Amino acid sequence: MGIGVVEVFSLGFGFCIGSFLNVAIRRGIRGESFFGRSKCESCGKILTPIELIPLVSFFLQRGRCRSCGGALSLQYPLVEATTGILFAIAAYLFPLDINLWRPNLHTIIISFVPLILACVGLSAALFAFVVDLRTKIIPDSAFYILFAVGVAAVSFRWYAADPNFSSGIFSDAGAALLISLFFASLWFFSRGQWMGFGDAKLILATSLAIGFPASIAALLFSFWSGGVVGGVLLLFRRTTLKSTIPFGPFILLGSASAYFFSPFFFETTRFLEGIYEIVYYSF
Ligand SMILES: [Zn+2]
Repeated sequence: MGIGVVEVFSLGFGFCIGSFLNVAIRRGIRGESFFGRSKCESCGKILTPIELIPLVSFFLQRGRCRSCGGALSLQYPLVEATTGILFAIAAYLFPLDINLWRPNLHTIIISFVPLILACVGLSAALFAFVVDLRTKIIPDSAFYILFAVGVAAVSFRWYAADPNFSSGIFSDAGAALLISLFFASLWFFSRGQWMGFGDAKLILATSLAIGFPASIAALLFSFWSGGVVGGVLLLFRRTTLKSTIPFGPFILLGSASAYFFSPFFFETTRFLEGIYEIVYYSF
């Protein structure tokens, strides 16, 4: 099965959810009410529907407000595009397999739950990623959503009982607790210098969500990517050894990579075939 309607729909749906995440991120950081009409951040003009189309509005307006000409944050198109791409990948990796003529509750659950959990988890992860980068704080709301996704994912893998999925509830939960305890001890012994307590909470949620042994791969990926980025920043003197870089984004990046590339969730080749297919049809 190639790239089809569900993937394209997920891409577009992801752009819209990304637009919603942008509002949540910006209002969350400023401590504003989540409700109310969207306004230009420079002149305060209430935006019209035509100015609220994900990605399209930004490019039509060349990244500027139509009223005052103030520059719009690059965060808008970046978050919208990223959410769309992540949703499309999730739809590709978890193809829906439902017989419309003979629907059956078990096959509907098996088919839909991984895709829904992936989209909710990835949205909360992207939200936490941007907020932690900008404020060095992982919002509690993102932690609660990711933790709920984690508990649901562990239960689902147990329910689906697919031998390729996971070695079970105890290894998923046990690995998540051990990894989180390791982070909590780094936080405790360094008095919050190497690691924040929010990081220990975050990795508990992400480890549950992706399960064992992907959680171990995620732990390694997060330290590797954190080490490389930290080293590069030091090299170009953009940071000093004393200043802190938030670690949450590396946990989220590591977890997403382990999740997408783990052979325990799907055939690894499927991801590479998908990339090949996109490149092939693009030219
Ligand atoms: Zn304006």
